[in-house]
Amino acid sequence: MLKDFFMGLSQNQFLNSTAKKYGLKMGAQSVVAGTNIEEAIKSIKELNAHGISCTVDNLGEFVFKKEEATAAKEQILEVIEAIHKNNVDAHISLKPTQLGLDIDYYFCLENLREIVDKANTYDIFVNFDMEDYGHLKPSFDLLDELSMEYNNVGTVIQAYFFEAGENLEKYKNYRLRIVKGAYKEPEQYAYQDKKDIDKNFIKLIEWHLLNGKFTSIATHDHRIINHVKDFVKKNDIPKDKFEFQMLYGFRKDLQLKLANEGYNFCTYVPFGNDWYGYFMRRLAERPQNLNLVAKQVFNK
Ligand code: FAD
Repeated sequence: MLKDFFMGLSQNQFLNSTAKKYGLKMGAQSVVAGTNIEEAIKSIKELNAHGISCTVDNLGEFVFKKEEATAAKEQILEVIEAIHKNNVDAHISLKPTQLGLDIDYYFCLENLREIVDKANTYDIFVNFDMEDYGHLKPSFDLLDELSMEYNNVGTVIQAYFFEAGENLEKYKNYRLRIVKGAYKEPEQYAYQDKKDIDKNFIKLIEWHLLNGKFTSIATHDHRIINHVKDFVKKNDIPKDKFEFQMLYGFRKDLQLKLANEGYNFCTYVPFGNDWYGYFMRRLAERPQNLNLVAKQVFNK
């Protein structure tokens, strides 16, 4: 019930554009690393100091105007410049819809090409985050086109999709982030039961660890993390073949613990004014995250 409620809110375009005007509110400041590049770089430096690398997401979605997509591209180019200038250990995560996928495929492709090209000159990796099922195929198409020219690109496999295994095999030579999946998807395309999703998630992670290029295991689920730790040990998988990833602000103790244990660890650092949809999806995933909101409201 609560999941559906917050998922509904995440897709409300009126609330999304209203939220942009008011800065970080409702507890979002615990899970969003500021509204501008300077604040994001400061957070990245703090995480780097603990041996944690970062993937930076200049938040944005619901982009239906070319001017907005162009502005998002310019901001991401600035982030790439800032990563290079500050010499921080970070790469880029972006959403194709933010760069105009819902406006025009080729317009989006050109925006992405500019970003990937600039990142490539600085040897910075660019991850195409995966969104809902309707954007899955065009996002893979964008990746296919750009990977003919560049090798600093990769993407995400969402374990709740029935076709996830097929996509994993097809993209095994890419650096891949494997996740459970964050959107509400119809029964004909995706597992609905948590147990089925978890089972497939483990299956995909194990397969990519054994057969793939580099695996980012993105989860806050300690049971999955412990399973992966045992699996890599049993199968002699070297630590430079994989990393754990978590979102900024979540399970900070566990993030530090894993980094201190010598595992590669990468924190997903979202920043910017367009925090609303991201924040609502986090509440939908785990209504206990409302505790974060309560703490922010009462700790003023
Ligand atoms: P859940 O299934 O939410 O939780 C499992 C268990 O873990 C819980 O029952 C609890 O015991 C424990 N747990 C979880 N969170 C906490 C917490 N905060 N504190 C204490 N215990 C906790 N999704 C996409 O669709 N596309 C993407 O591109 C994408 N990128 C992502 C990148 C990163 C770095 C991460 C971490 C997630 C990303 N996701 C993405 C979201 C992902 O698909 C899941 O929706 C999200 O991570 C929640 O699932 P989970 O694996 O963390 O564990």
